[in-house]
Amino acid sequence: MLTIIERYTKNNPAYLNNLNKADSRYVEFQCIGPKGAVLHSIGTPQPLARVIAEYFDSPEAARAQASVHGVLQADGTYYKLAPDNFRMWHAGGTANNTHMGIEMTEPDCIWYDASKGYKLHIRNTSKALDHVVKTYGCAVELFADLCIQHNWDPLEDGVILSHKECYERGIGSNHGDPEHLWDALNTGYTMDTFRAAVAKRVKELEAETLDKKIEVIVKQILNDNRKSQEKTELRYKTLADLKAAPNSQHYLPTVEKLIAKGYLNGKGGSGDDLILDFSEDSIRILVTLDRAGVYGE
Ligand SMILES: [Zn+2]
Repeated sequence: MLTIIERYTKNNPAYLNNLNKADSRYVEFQCIGPKGAVLHSIGTPQPLARVIAEYFDSPEAARAQASVHGVLQADGTYYKLAPDNFRMWHAGGTANNTHMGIEMTEPDCIWYDASKGYKLHIRNTSKALDHVVKTYGCAVELFADLCIQHNWDPLEDGVILSHKECYERGIGSNHGDPEHLWDALNTGYTMDTFRAAVAKRVKELEAETLDKKIEVIVKQILNDNRKSQEKTELRYKTLADLKAAPNSQHYLPTVEKLIAKGYLNGKGGSGDDLILDFSEDSIRILVTLDRAGVYGE
């Protein structure tokens, strides 16, 4: 469902600060790794993650002091712009010290009115809705993967947040994304529905992983079993093989008696080349029966 394209924003000052370990916040983030992730919506009518990725690598983003870990578009294409354990500038507050930032792209059939506080207008509701529903689904998938990779509990308080929630908690700048777009389109999506969907997906993925692990273990056991059987079970293909066996003195009188009496004709061949195809166990049974007098003198 997700196609991950690594396109690190090596010209972005936040990225460079990580490479240079500019201060203790970068060092700490790199040592500890992210404690969670913030879901953003880019706030511009651009559906292509590639274009947003290029922006974050440009002087414009450097001037805006903006950077993120990745950008997701509606078809599941995810541009990864920095390693997960880099400290990036996405939330505009202390959330940057602990959380990854993931941007979702927005449909091209909306526009923001800069003269009226960037009020959102929608030109084509069904097209916009299609974009947002698909992107939401892909974000659930991506966040579920991140939860598994980083061992996060998606339902634990403060692990998965929106930029809006970061603002409300005093750990992010005054933004309303991504809820502003969800609400404008009456999607019914909230960060609670998002976190619940991620938690459900994590469970599904973990169950799939467990099933695969069990399948591998069962295959391994069957394989080991087959190998050990092959190793331990002696088989005698012909009479000559039996004659050459270390225990032949115990087996041979019985086998020769059975051949002489016509009880044992083998599977073909004759003389020493008579094909017996006996296992050690089957010969032992024949010998025991012989000793019990089953075949007469
Ligand atoms: Zn944001």
